Formats: sequence, C-alpha cells, structure tokens
Amino acid sequence: MTQITLRTAVVVPFILIFMITMGSIITVQKFSYEEMVEVVSDKHLTSLTTNVVQKLNYYLEEPFQAALSISHSIGQNNLYQKDNLEVIEKYILSSFESLYQPMSQLGVISFGSEAKEYLGFRKEANNDYSLMLQDNRTDGKLVIYQGNAITPQARAIIDNYDPTVRPWYTPVATHGKATWSSIYTDADERQTITISALAPVIQDEQFVGVIANDIKIHTFNAFLKELKQRTKATIYIFDNEQQLVTHSSDKSVVSWGTPITDKGERLLAIESNNPIIYAMAQFIRPLAFPVQSRLYKFDLVLEGERYFSLVTPYTDHHGLEWYIGVSISEPDLLGALPNNQRLSWSIGIFVSAIGIALGLLAFNRITQPITETAQSARALAYGDWETNMPKPGRIYEISVLVNAFNDMTNNLKASFQTLRNQLLYDSLTNLYSREGLIDCCDKLPALNGSLLLIGINQFRNINDSIGHNRADLLLKDITHRVKQLFNNDAYIARIGGDEFAVYLTEGHDNNELKLLANRVHQVFASPFVMEKNSLVINAAIGVVPNNSELLSMEKWLRNGSIALSNAKHELSNISFYLPEMADISKNRTAMMAKLQTAIENNEFVAFYQPIIDLNTGDVIGAEALARWISPQEGLISPLDFIPIAEEYGFIAEIGEQILRQACRDTMLGTQQGKWGETFHMHVNISAHQLSHQDFINTLTDIISESGIQTHNLTLEITESRIVSGDKIVLDNMQAIQDLGCHIAIDDFGTGYSSLAYLHELPFDCIKIDRTFVEQMKANNLDSSIVSAIINMTKGMKVDIVAEGIETIEQVQMLNSLHCPQGQGFLYSRPVPFEEWPTHLVNIEQ
Ligand code: C2E
Ligand code: MG
Ligand code: MG
Repeated sequence: MTQITLRTAVVVPFILIFMITMGSIITVQKFSYEEMVEVVSDKHLTSLTTNVVQKLNYYLEEPFQAALSISHSIGQNNLYQKDNLEVIEKYILSSFESLYQPMSQLGVISFGSEAKEYLGFRKEANNDYSLMLQDNRTDGKLVIYQGNAITPQARAIIDNYDPTVRPWYTPVATHGKATWSSIYTDADERQTITISALAPVIQDEQFVGVIANDIKIHTFNAFLKELKQRTKATIYIFDNEQQLVTHSSDKSVVSWGTPITDKGERLLAIESNNPIIYAMAQFIRPLAFPVQSRLYKFDLVLEGERYFSLVTPYTDHHGLEWYIGVSISEPDLLGALPNNQRLSWSIGIFVSAIGIALGLLAFNRITQPITETAQSARALAYGDWETNMPKPGRIYEISVLVNAFNDMTNNLKASFQTLRNQLLYDSLTNLYSREGLIDCCDKLPALNGSLLLIGINQFRNINDSIGHNRADLLLKDITHRVKQLFNNDAYIARIGGDEFAVYLTEGHDNNELKLLANRVHQVFASPFVMEKNSLVINAAIGVVPNNSELLSMEKWLRNGSIALSNAKHELSNISFYLPEMADISKNRTAMMAKLQTAIENNEFVAFYQPIIDLNTGDVIGAEALARWISPQEGLISPLDFIPIAEEYGFIAEIGEQILRQACRDTMLGTQQGKWGETFHMHVNISAHQLSHQDFINTLTDIISESGIQTHNLTLEITESRIVSGDKIVLDNMQAIQDLGCHIAIDDFGTGYSSLAYLHELPFDCIKIDRTFVEQMKANNLDSSIVSAIINMTKGMKVDIVAEGIETIEQVQMLNSLHCPQGQGFLYSRPVPFEEWPTHLVNIEQ
C-alpha cells in the first residue's frame, strides 16, 4: 500500500480547498464583472450611437427639407425663367440669408437647369455669400464672384461647365424625385467632401432643374470630435462601399494627391491610419454588405486593451445607407474599474498565496513534532540512541503525545543503558566484562599492546569451601590488588568467574612482560585475609605479547585463554602464547571428548608401585597410579590426561574408579597373602575430589563395598593443590582421618603455600617430591631440602616417603638422613596388580 506523509495528507487537501475557494471566488467575480461589462458597454455604445443618429438625422434632414422647400417655392411661384436666373437668384439669396443661414452644415444652395444654367450661393467663413453663376449674363461661363452679386472681380471662371452631368443633377433628372447625391468631391477649388440633398424643380408640371443643398460633411466631424472628447469613444461613419464618410479623428477621410489623379479619393475604412477604425473595419470587412438591419457588437483587443465595439446601420427616408461604428476601450468605458478589478484579483491571488504560505507554515508547525517523533521512533528502532528527540510544540494533544514518547524513550534509554552496563561491566568488581573489554578495546585506534590473562587456580574449590559471599569478597580483594598494580595504564576486565584480563595499551617486550607476570604472582603471594582465616591462593598467567596481526580483542582473548590453560600446567604458572599452542589446545579439546567415553567404558586401570621400608627393605605398601588403556592409543600416562580431567571436571569419576580398584585389589592382595596385614595402599586424590562435600560418602561407600580395612588405605593429596583455609578440604581431611584412613601430602615442597600452614592440616605421611631426591648430593647432604624436610617433621610423628629413587646412592643418602621410606624405579616401575613382583631384586642389596 502506498503511503503518504502526514504533511502531504494535511497540506494537499488544505491547498486544494483553499485554491478551489479562491478560484471560485475569482471566477464568479470575473464572470459577474464580464456580465456587468457586457451590459454597461451595450448601453453605452447604444446610447452613443443613438446620440450620433439623432445628430445625423438633424444634420441631414434640415438641409434636405430646405431643398424641398426651395424647389417647391420655385416651382409653385414660377420663379424660373429661361435664360434669366435673376429672380431665382434673389429668392435663393434671401432664403439663404434669412432662413438657412444658421444651418452650419449647409455650404451651398444651388440650382441647375435643363438649359445648363447654374446658380449657387456659397457660404463663406465670414457668413458672406459668394455667387456662382452661369447664365446669359456670364456668357455661358461659370463665374465665381467675390460677393453675393455680380461684380467686376471674379474669384474664378470655369469654362464649359455643364451642371446637368454633375453627380448632384443626374439622379434627380433620371428619377424625378428628391434624393441624396452620392458623396463626391466638390468641383470648386476647395474640393471638399460633399453630399447634396437634391430636389427636382417642377414648373408647370415640367421638370426644369434641380435644387442641390450641399452639406459639407467635414462639419459633422466637429461634432464627432467633440463627442469623442467627452466620451473617449472612437466613432466613424462609412457607406455601403465601406468607404469612410467621416470619423471622430483629425485625419481626413480623403487621400490627397495620388499620383494618378490629383483629385481626392475617399479612403476605404480599412485604409484608415486610425488603429481602432482600422481594426473595426478589418472585423467588418468579411461581412455581407449591405446589412441594413443588423447590429454588430464585438470586442477587439488592441495593444493589450479591450475595445467594445458596435456597428449600427443608419438609413433615412431618402435612401441613405450608412453605418455608424462606435468603439470604446475598457478603461474609457469603466474608468478605474478594470484596473481596480485587476488589482483586486492580484490582491486576491497575493492574499491566497500568503494564506497558503501561512497555512503551510502553521501545518508545518503542527505536524513538525509528529514528523520528528516518527523520525526518532524510526531511528530508535534501528538502535540509534543518539538521535534527536522531538520537541513538543504548542498543540496540547500533540505535546502530550510527544512528551509521552520522550518519557518512554528516556525510560527505554535508561533501561537500555542499564542492560548495556550489565553487559559491559562486571557488577561485582566494576571492572569491564568480557564484552565490555572487547567493546572498548575494539574502539581503540590500534591493538598493538599486550595482554595478560590471570586465572585463579582452584577457584571452584575456593568457592565451594568458603562460600559464595566470601568468594565474592575475595574477588573484590583480588580486583583491588590487580588494579593497584596496573594503575591506569591498562584495561582490566573480569572475563570469567576466576579469570581476569589486563590489556596493556603500551607494547612491552617479552622480558618486561615476564617481569609484569612475576609481579602479578607477587601480588597473590601474600595471603588474603578473610575474616579470621587467611587464604593463600595462586594464579596462572597467560601472556599474549605484542602482536600486530590480531585485529580484534576477541582474538587476543582467545590466544590469552590458550596461553592461560597452558600456564596451568607449567611449574612457573606463566605461559607466553605461541601459535603452536593453538594446536595443543585443539588436542586437549579432542582429548576431553575421548575422556568422556573412556570414563563410560571404564578404560582406567590402577598400576601399583611398591613403597619400601628403607631400613629393612621390606615392601610396606604401594601407590596406585592411574593408567588409561585406550583401545586406539594404548597406554596413556596420567600426566597427559589428569590435568585435562581436572580442568574439565572429570577427575572425580576417574579418581573414584581408581580408588575402587585399589581398594578391591588391596583386599585381593591381602587375601592372596601377597600383602601383609599392615599394608599401606596409597591412592592419589585430586583437590577437586577433596573439596566436594560428599566425598566422604563416596569414600565410605567404596570402603564398605570393598571391605578394606581403613588403616590399610592412605589418600595422597598434592600439596600445591591444597587451598589454605578451605573449610571443606580441612573437614574432609579430618573426616578421612576419623574413618581411620591415612593422609599423605604428595609432592611435598613444591607448593607455594610452603610450610606456613602445615600445622593446620591433618596428615600422617609426607611424600618428598622426586625433584628434591634428584637434587641430593653426597657432599652437602645436610643442607639439602630432603634433610630440611626430615628435620622439620621430626617431632610430628608422620611417615616420610622419598619419591623417585632411581639409584643405590640415593638410597644410601636417604638412609644417612634417616628417611624411613621410599619408592622409585630402582625397586619397581608401577605395574598392573597381576604383575606385582614377588621378588624385588634391589632389596637384596
Ligand atoms: P605422584 O602421585 O607423585 O606419583 C608418582 C609419580 O612418580 C608416578 O608417575 C610414578 O610413576 C613416578 N615415579 C615413581 N618412581 C619414579 C622414579 O624412580 N623415577 C621417575 N622419573 N618417576 C618415578 P605417574 O604414574 O606418571 O603419575 C604422575 C602423577 O599423576 C602422580 O604423581 C599423581 O599426581 C598423578 N596421578 C596418578 N594417578 C592418579 C590418580 O589416580 N588420581 C590422581 N588424582 N592423580 C593421579
Ligand atoms: Mg602420588
Ligand atoms: Mg608424588
């Protein structure tokens, strides 16, 4: 489904409604304005035309009536006498002077006879009259006099003038009735545009001549001009040939002095150089003429201005067919109205634009918080917690919404931050967690420092024995010491229950790193004081030296972890990461898998090594040593699988299997008479087993199951693995002794705990580690560790067994130190029960 934004959803309808409303208002206004304009222009043009028509009627009718009256009087009173125009002359002059003088349009009253006589009076500018005469008195020539009578000076004399061929004469002569002449140019020197009202003179029922009253059409021009000045309307009058009769402009309707004829020709309307007349004529031209009864109303556009135009036919009773064209521009018709109208539309559009802009602004303000909220919600959804929060704005409901969103986001942020802190920081020690270390170190510009991984040995046991609360305190103490050691130069993290990582941003060489690792050991060397008890713990350290190939902390930690598990099997408890360790580590993992099936298949067998009374050479006991007889790989040494079994928590099961076998075999050996009543069967017990609460239950089960006498059983516990102050261990050891079994401290002298807490432990036997036996020299025997141990334990009533006796010299030295017991390859290697030697060669000596 296509989606639109809130802004679009709100703004588009608003703009549409606004535009439709404004559009409708403007359209309706324009429409009504047009209607108004139509009506007003109609009325105005019609009234103008009517004005012109009335004036024209008067203008033309007066001279026409005059012509009729004069012709009638002449005919009635027989004023015409052939060859003598004196009577008519007097009559016409007196009529002109007395009756028709005010008729300004009347220029000439003339009479022409069938006998080709001619008489006319022309009105001059000063209201004088000039006589024009052609009769006997002028010898048949047309003479134009200066005044109204025959005088010696003639203004002009024209020969061969024949009035009967003049355009004012022939129409009447032909039809015998009063009519208009066509429009013609005067024959006189002025050549004015003239139309004549023509009336026949009938005397004694005989047509004798024609009266012609000449109307100087240009005089009408004054009226039109004056009308134009008043109304601003352009007016023109034209005839059927569409030739101009007159118009409201100054220009002449005649084209003067054409090369062909120096006589004036009336212009066609379309030849007018008045642009309005020209345009109207253009419009009219294609119409069919004559069009007597029709009005033409039309609009013209000239230079961006609209002109309302009307063409009306004009006729009179005497056969005149003219047309009156009137045109007026919109502003002339309506004054400032069109401009105001245009201005009001512009203002309307401007106001609409402002309205839309304001509306958009307002909607923007309203939708902004919602849009921002949507944007931040989206950003939050993509995990961008740094995104800008929306601002609530001024709308109540929206601000409630936005504020609620912001509150929710802040809560969410806080929860997220807490969660993240929980992930990135160890809540117990406030150090980085594994994830935290990876997170912040991967942000470093380069990972070219060094890494120390510190693993606390036997922490599981510590935890079990001192309880979680105190183990937590211990961890805090450890954290404190580690932090003090490194100050601020390092990123310190607790990456597991008992593992700390220290990433040093500075690169160190291997010697420096070794030194640092030793200092870590020193930090652990002094006991941790837990309430009343003090606890000695030790740590293994895996070191990853400077390496530019490791690009992520994850890889550093993986290598560190490999180095650390390697360190746990080193005497020094320090191991530098080497690439081949990765393979070893892989092997260990594979071994672990195999161990699991080996346990299920009972592939572990106890081998026995005799323990000898060094004074008598008698076999007084044996140590049970685990062997793994793998169907695929044959016999596997405990050194190869015991550490892994301890690390992965399988040791208890293996230990149980061996203990069970050893007890069973002890019973068997005693029954068979192989071993005496006081035979000591030594069985190795891992610290893991001993730190288990129900170890004693298992032990008693096995004892009762096998039927072994408890005094025949000695449990060996490796010294270095005993955690000082571990209550369960101590309780278990006590319980073992209480059962009647013996306890031997194995590998005595190798543990860091040294002898400091020895008095706290219940034990019956000390086994001096093979390395010390090996180190014995005949020349300084008294200062040997073996000597020191024997001396130290003199008052303790414990057995002492020297391990790893390989030579007769060693036996002799041990004898001289009064070491009571021993074991070693010199007497016998560990052998299966069935191969137990009945005769030990070396003892003979
Ligand atoms: P340990 O308890 O100190 O056992 C003595 C080790 O010294 C045995 O090694 C033994 O074979 C070896 N040994 C004895 N005499 C000589 C000698 O003259 N020269 C030399 N070079 N070595 C001699 P083994 O059997 O390989 O066992 C190694 C360690 O594995 C034992 O040291 C013990 O700590 C552990 N272990 C063996 N069996 C078990 C078991 O069932 N449970 C537990 N928890 N640990 C066991
Ligand atoms: Mg042992
Ligand atoms: Mg040992």
